[in-house]
Amino acid sequence: MKMKDFYSILGVSQDASKEDIKKAYKNLAKKYHPDVNSGNKAAVDKFKEVTEAYEVLSDDEKRSKYDRLKSSGFSGYGNGNFDFSGMGGQNSGGVDVEDILASIFGGGARGKQTGGGFGDIFESFFDRGGSAGARGSSERPSRGEDIEVKLDLTLKQAAGGGSLKLKVNRRDLCSFCSGEGGSGNTACHSCRGTGSISRSQGGYAISQPCPQCAGRGKIKTNICSNCAGKGFINNIKQIKVNIPEGVADGQLIRIPGEGHAGALNTPRGNIIITVRVKNDEQFTRQGDDLYYELSLKFSEAALGAVKMVPTIRGSAKVNIPAGAKSGSKLKLKGQGIKNDKTGAAGDQIITIKIDVPSELSEEAKKLLRELDKLI
Ligand SMILES: [Zn+2]
Ligand SMILES: [Zn+2]
Repeated sequence: MKMKDFYSILGVSQDASKEDIKKAYKNLAKKYHPDVNSGNKAAVDKFKEVTEAYEVLSDDEKRSKYDRLKSSGFSGYGNGNFDFSGMGGQNSGGVDVEDILASIFGGGARGKQTGGGFGDIFESFFDRGGSAGARGSSERPSRGEDIEVKLDLTLKQAAGGGSLKLKVNRRDLCSFCSGEGGSGNTACHSCRGTGSISRSQGGYAISQPCPQCAGRGKIKTNICSNCAGKGFINNIKQIKVNIPEGVADGQLIRIPGEGHAGALNTPRGNIIITVRVKNDEQFTRQGDDLYYELSLKFSEAALGAVKMVPTIRGSAKVNIPAGAKSGSKLKLKGQGIKNDKTGAAGDQIITIKIDVPSELSEEAKKLLRELDKLI
């Protein structure tokens, strides 16, 4: 678990004045505010991040606690050196995020973007995203690992959306031992039952959870036979996935709280699905538009025709005007992919291709020669 650097998030130095911090936040908030970045998730995330940083650094008490944590190389768990009472829950009154936003965006902005107050401030000091495997082995993960799945869809499935069932291999808490790994407790030898071990860093004594007992201070005397003491067993779980209409290749679908079970008393991870859309034989997708090639006989192109063409949702009648040229395009409005964000559908673009027959009967050749004299 890495501690977030609120100073670099705001682009200010460690000794920046309150005024500098306020100015930096104001500029960043203006740039990344959701009102001017609608639909841009990266900007909205950035906005949350800078707001979080400002909420801490603009409050003297929070800032000094944060600074102390930072300089101590605090690793997040099992450390009793700091007192966090009063960190959560309440807006201490020293923070004027909403006033600043109101001054930038008018009174309407007040109150709607800072969300749940300051209950998550302590959480926010640390970057808890990602899977447990990415963290150091001595750190106890705060939740279960994510399950990453690739989901192959046909273009029709992607266009139509809907729900489907997916089987995932998932780690669940062992039901025999409720995740305890066994019964009976004996003090852990490595940490002498304290649950934490000390190491020295930069002149400070840092305590961290004991890797032997995962910070519990105890190990089991009777190992659970069902899970061999691990506390987890592997299951196959069927998950319902809601696929948004018009989902694109590479898009992520996140199912929170359905990933691997976490260690005791921690929540499950998430399921992260990467959508892969297979190439279609009939349609080529470009953004929300679908491209389709329609082959016509020379006579159809010359005389005009009414043709049924496939669409992503069925079929549609198309009037081909007389004298259609090869390569010319027709548009079926609204027959493309529906955009999940805007709700508007793209178009189907039909490109005309004129088929020239490679084998002709003698009679056909004769007729064509006569025709040639006429046109
Ligand atoms: Zn067990
Ligand atoms: Zn231990």
